Order: sequence, then C-alpha cells, then structure tokens
Amino acid sequence: MTKAIVIDKGDAGQEVFVQEVSLPALEEGEVLVDVAYSTLNYKDALALTGASPVVRSFPMVPGIDFSGIVAESRDPAYAVGDRVVLNGWSVGEKYWGGLAGQAKVKGDWLVPLPEALSLRQAMVIGTAGYTAMLCVMALADDGITPESGEIVVTGASGGVGSVAVSLLAGRGYQVAAVTGRSNEAEYLTQLGASSIVERSELEGKARPLSKERWAGAVDVVGGEVLANVLSMISYGGSVAACGLAGSMGLPTSVAPFILRGVSLRGVDSVMCPLARRREAWRLLAEEVKPEVFEAIAREVAFEDVIAAAPDFLEGKVRGRIVVPVAPE
Ligand code: NAP
Repeated sequence: MTKAIVIDKGDAGQEVFVQEVSLPALEEGEVLVDVAYSTLNYKDALALTGASPVVRSFPMVPGIDFSGIVAESRDPAYAVGDRVVLNGWSVGEKYWGGLAGQAKVKGDWLVPLPEALSLRQAMVIGTAGYTAMLCVMALADDGITPESGEIVVTGASGGVGSVAVSLLAGRGYQVAAVTGRSNEAEYLTQLGASSIVERSELEGKARPLSKERWAGAVDVVGGEVLANVLSMISYGGSVAACGLAGSMGLPTSVAPFILRGVSLRGVDSVMCPLARRREAWRLLAEEVKPEVFEAIAREVAFEDVIAAAPDFLEGKVRGRIVVPVAPE
C-alpha cells in the first residue's frame, strides 16, 4: 500500500482525497518507482479542481510528473536504485500518476535523471520547465539566435514562463517578459528579463499585422494574446506555442504567416519522442543556473496539494510548486 491523492466521482460530483492505495504487480516492461518529489502543474490543477475534463478514467491518482528511485523493475533498461524522471505520457490523466508514494509506469516513459540534477531540482524544473526547454529548442531549430532580436515570453511569472525567461536569458537572448502582475517585474528581471510588457498591451482584438517588435516568442496563454504576439513578430520569426492559460482559441489571420513568413511551432511535452526528451533534460541539466532553482521554487506539502490547486486557475502561482513526497 502507498499513500496517494485520489480523484473519484461521487454522488455530488468530483471528490478528491488522500487515501492508501495498492498498485497491481508489475507487468513485463514496467517499473515501480519510489516517488521522491512530484509537482503541481497547470494540468494537475485542472484535474484536481475538475475545471477541465483532463482525467479520463476514475478513480485517478493525479500528478503528471515525478522524480524518484527505481524500487522494482521488469524493464532491462532500469535497475533498482536508478534515479529517474517522468513527464506526461498521459500519466495523471489516464494512468495513475506521481502524487503518490509509488508509481508504476512503463520503462519506456522514463528518462534517466542527468547526474548533475538532484531529485528535487528535477521537479523544480518539472513538466513546465521541460516544456520551456522544448520551446527554446523549437526557436533554435527555426534559426532564431540571440542576434535575431528580442524574444517575448507570455505568462512569464508562471511555471513555463519563469523557466523560459531564465533559459533564454542564459543563452544570451534579450527577453521581453509579458505579465498581468506588475508586482512580479522585479522577480522577472532577476530571472533575466530585459524588459517587462504589461499583458494588457496584448489584449483586445489583434490586427492582422502590427509593428514588427520581436524575433520570436514562447507563448503559454493562447487566445488574443497569442494573436497579438503573432501580429508583432518580425519577418521570418518563430513562435513556440505550448499553452492555453488564457484561452483555447486563436482569433488570428494568415497575414503573419503569408506576408512575414512567421512560423507557428506547436510544442507538446506529453507525447514528445524519447530522444528529444532526453536531449531536453540534458540541456536543462547544463543550463538551469543554481540560483534559478532557488528563485522559482515553492514547496507545498503533500497534504496541502488539494487546497493549492485553485491558485493556478486564478493566475496566482509564481514559478514552480514542488511537492516533497519522500525527499532525499
Ligand atoms: P502557470 O504557472 O499557471 O502559468 C500561467 C501564467 O499565464 C500565469 O502565471 C499568468 O502569468 C498567465 N495567465 C494566467 N491566466 C491568464 C489569463 N487568463 N490570460 C492571460 N494570461 C494568463 O501555468 P504553467 O504550468 O506555466 O502552464 C502554462 C500553460 O502551458 C498552461 O496552459 C498549461 O496547460 C500549458 N502547458 C502545456 C504543455 C504542453 O505540453 N504543451 C506543458 C506544460 C504546460 P502572468 O501573471 O505573469 O501574466
């Protein structure tokens, strides 16, 4: 038996509680992990609050990511004692996830934790930070270099945004951080933002094209904000879009694509192929600076996870929330 947060359907709707659960025996190719840390991501908040139907079978143990130590393995690629990290693959949505003492997953879903990262650091980064790296990699793939011009990051005070700002600044890009919270300007400047943009500047109906302002973007917001960003990307620029914190919609035109050659790069962390994940984690281990782990992390105790989830939907979370389960 292991302790777990459980989401289930009751007579009065969705219920969330802490309970002892038992995991079935391992099948061929599966690995049992003693979870050291999990986290709260935006998607976990959607699952825990029931705000969006991300949970696809009940009862569900949420937690789309975790770091931990292999306790038992039926995958020859992993041995007892190995340090591993997991992001996505519908864990915490379709398969029981990381907000539990142990998790049983396919070995193919795991990434060996790079030596340079502690189990805690891995979850300070978490799925949000790994997605931020996938976005930075997408911009680099599109030939956007620090010499191309400034990069804009939306939802900058949140998990993906905070890591994206610090990674881009670390690579030498000028970074414009968009935030709806002007009180976070100092935090964003500390992470490396070279300018702060009020979110309200990017709200309202977007024109097909506006003055060229940025060479690239990392967008976590979607909707009008993304439409406005697209209209302001310079000729040949690129936008890595990974989120919908503002809206699932995209009220734009083809003008930025056909008149300025702008690329819109979709970024998905959940089903991202293993080789690209390993590369993202290798780069994260090299590029996330020690002071960034301190600056962006806040711990929430396992017992307090359920109460903390609504903060995401109200846009109140700064940086990353780490959940110690069995810390080092
Ligand atoms: P988060 O920590 O809550 O950050 C989101 C940020 O967006 C907030 O901090 C806020 O930043 C801004 N924001 C919130 N509500 C908004 C609104 N109504 N309009 C405009 N801006 C708003 O969440 P996260 O973990 O960084 O995730 C961000 C998004 O990326 C989510 O939609 C999540 O589902 C998505 N995501 C996708 C993938 C993928 O694989 N594609 C992976 C991870 C996350 P400011 O206060 O600074 O403006």
